[in-house]
Amino acid sequence: MSKKFLIVGGVAGGASTAARLRRLSEEDEIIMFERGPHVSFSNCCLPYHLSGVVEDAESLVLMNPNKFLSQYNIEARVNNEVVSIDRHKKEVIVKNLATGEEYVEAYDKLILSPGAKPIVPPINGIEKVNTFTVRNVVDIDKLNKFVKGLKSKNVSVIGGGFIGVEVAENLREAGYNVTLIEAMSQIMKPFDYDMIQILHKELYDHGIRLIISDKVSAFEKDTVVLESGKKVETEAVVMAIGVVPETELAVKAGLEIGETGAIKVDQNYKTSDENIYAVGDAIEVYNPLIGKMTKLPLAGPAQKQAREVADHIFGMLVLNTGFIGSSVIKCFDYNAASTGLNEGMIKAYNLDIKYEVVKVIPGDKVGLMPGCEPLHFKLLFEIPTGRILGAQAIGKGNVDKRIDVIATAIKFGAKINDLRDLELCYAPPFGTAKDVVNYAGYVGSNLLNGVFKQVRESDVRELIENGAYIIDVREKSEYKLSHIIGAKNIPLSELRDRTNEIPKDKPVYLHCRSAQRSYNAAMALKHLGFENIYNISGGFMGICFYEYFNDETTGREKIVTDYNFL
Ligand SMILES: Cc1cc2nc3c(=O)[nH]c(=O)nc-3n(C[C@H](O)[C@H](O)[C@H](O)COP(=O)(O)OP(=O)(O)OC[C@H]3O[C@@H](n4cnc5c(N)ncnc54)[C@H](O)[C@@H]3O)c2cc1C
Repeated sequence: MSKKFLIVGGVAGGASTAARLRRLSEEDEIIMFERGPHVSFSNCCLPYHLSGVVEDAESLVLMNPNKFLSQYNIEARVNNEVVSIDRHKKEVIVKNLATGEEYVEAYDKLILSPGAKPIVPPINGIEKVNTFTVRNVVDIDKLNKFVKGLKSKNVSVIGGGFIGVEVAENLREAGYNVTLIEAMSQIMKPFDYDMIQILHKELYDHGIRLIISDKVSAFEKDTVVLESGKKVETEAVVMAIGVVPETELAVKAGLEIGETGAIKVDQNYKTSDENIYAVGDAIEVYNPLIGKMTKLPLAGPAQKQAREVADHIFGMLVLNTGFIGSSVIKCFDYNAASTGLNEGMIKAYNLDIKYEVVKVIPGDKVGLMPGCEPLHFKLLFEIPTGRILGAQAIGKGNVDKRIDVIATAIKFGAKINDLRDLELCYAPPFGTAKDVVNYAGYVGSNLLNGVFKQVRESDVRELIENGAYIIDVREKSEYKLSHIIGAKNIPLSELRDRTNEIPKDKPVYLHCRSAQRSYNAAMALKHLGFENIYNISGGFMGICFYEYFNDETTGREKIVTDYNFL
């Protein structure tokens, strides 16, 4: 006997569920309800309409109800909001937003994919500014048309998450004076503070006024007022401080809500009602690295969950391995990707994990190739097991490939030593014979085996303040160009002849450009009987990136004579 499937929400999770259900059965009835005027649009491309990369707002809509009907025999009802669920009768009440009329639709199985909505807190004076949020095509079209008419071109984006950064970047590309305001000490939490300094720099260098560690306290007429007392003149405010799962329908229907405030589902994405499933931004998912339920508003998980729900409805085996969170963003000339745990998350979740950090900055392809760029790569692994916990990569080239490899490695339970053996494809325009991922495996296994000791570039300021003995092992010409104030220059090429200049009675910190030559120097000194040698991970380049934004924006004293980012 044919069944009737109703779906709430017609975008990532909803449309994917509908399509998979149809592929698994030709005879069942599938109706998808969408409150907005569009189904199946590209949320992820929305910010790119502001810069004109996506010229036409309508092209953001990938499918329309006619196509759903003709190609898939799926009824997509736009401007139709599901307002309540009668679980006992297995019916939903739907409001046709065009006519105001309400009607009833019965179901065999109901799938909820209502997503998450932007948070707009009731900040004092919010009615005195033109506020916008970015969730759908209507929103972005409205924002784009509004900013086009601005005289001052002053736009403020509140919140430095993915959406805030993408909106800020695209507005800046379109020539607006953009202020990006973030209450925390850094933007984008999937990245650690040390790594994110690269993007802080990138935003700053591209003329975005990035304000961190300052919170919006109120709005005045065309003005954002910050807790510090700073005032930012603005004609438009984009609120991007985060999203909250749309749970109203579920709550009203008495479905169980989880510890995170999102809809609780079991391993098959079934809610507390046998006949109701839920997927996407509205649900909480298990993160096996954290060992807890988390919210993960990303398109990939939503679409994968959608497929699994349809499979489960049709009796296929579903294996829910949880989600570790993998994401990527473009920020002007840089690409930044991350997966799994970072140091900030380990602290925030108070996880009892002992870990070590690998930080390397090799070229992303063979140096002779055009466009070879440094790739800043950070990886965390557990001590003593070597279990890979997470990684972050930021560079101008291909970072997502590297992070995808690590995401895969984590999913398959790989250890740091496993990375050494991975056979990754290589030709000079694409990478290096030993890819950065292999390289991280070498450094990590050395650290695990106690082959050398390291400090981080983020420790260097304090080391200098405490009068630490730092040796720069780069060549003299490099040192002359710029160096750490107070560092002694003993090039690697002269090191073995000048060991008498190196103290044995105190720690000695070595660095070069990217920590590779200084690693060689550290190993040489170790074999020559020096016991207190530390390599500074990230090297001079890492130190420059780490220090730059805060130097520029706080006016504090520099610890380098000049920066070198190459
Ligand atoms: C600007 C932006 C950029 C993004 N970029 C990325 C990215 O680069 N990478 C990435 O992985 N993720 C990105 N995301 C997140 C990604 O889009 C979401 O994780 C994904 O769309 C979630 O799918 P969903 O089906 O749960 O919710 P949605 O795609 O939001 O769909 C939910 C739909 O349900 C409708 N709805 C809600 N309640 C009802 C109701 N009662 N009746 C009828 N309809 C209802 C809503 O109107 C909405 O259209 C981005 C999101 C935004 C907003």
